[in-house]
Amino acid sequence: ASAKSFIKIADDEKGYPLDQFCIPKHYEEDLERVLIPEGLINDRTERLARDIVETFGNEAIVVLCVLKGGYKFFTDLVDKIQVLNRNRGHSIQMAVDFIRLKSYMNESSTGKIEVIGGDNLENLKGKNVLIVEDIIDTGRTMQQLLELMSSVQPKSVKVASLLLKRTPLSVGYIPDYIGFEVPNLFLVGYALDYNEFFRDLSHICVINSNGKEKYSI
Ligand code: 5GP
Repeated sequence: ASAKSFIKIADDEKGYPLDQFCIPKHYEEDLERVLIPEGLINDRTERLARDIVETFGNEAIVVLCVLKGGYKFFTDLVDKIQVLNRNRGHSIQMAVDFIRLKSYMNESSTGKIEVIGGDNLENLKGKNVLIVEDIIDTGRTMQQLLELMSSVQPKSVKVASLLLKRTPLSVGYIPDYIGFEVPNLFLVGYALDYNEFFRDLSHICVINSNGKEKYSI
């Protein structure tokens, strides 16, 4: 029942002023506000871990991290599944795998994914795969990745995305596990980047025009 439920962050959500949280000095001028504090991400991730464990029962899974943006969510989610695994009567065995995709230049999707690293996908044949992604925007990246995945014939594929953006450009793809549904804004922090910057920011924040200009390529 909890699959596909999410915390909805409204379009008029003000978030929190930067000076109410700890922000690295080097980003103080580049952000508008904190939208999702890391503590809240953590609490939500704990619940997603429980939902995942409940769906898979006793089946082993391969957790596939989509780098680089998914790495924080991936490590936190895997940690929380491990906590459940060692504290319950049943557990799900996990293997981890990594894939690197690139689809963004500045803030607009280039419309095509590029696989630029990772293990051989053939290893996933016959396995239950849980893909872990940071954000679904149009959904094109995930659609293409799922297409790629189906060619290696896994036993099952599910997708956990920390964020799902509300955008008119959505292709309609909805992941199986969703942390938060967010407004159509460009978000950074908690491993989400803007041209490789802001991954070293712990909260999910809205970038400002100064930040966009300073770090554009
Ligand atoms: P899609 O193919 O769904 O349009 O785009 C998905 C990818 O675009 C994500 O994996 C992420 O890398 C990037 N992306 C989309 N929206 C945002 C955003 O608000 N912030 C950041 N940092 N990346 C985003």
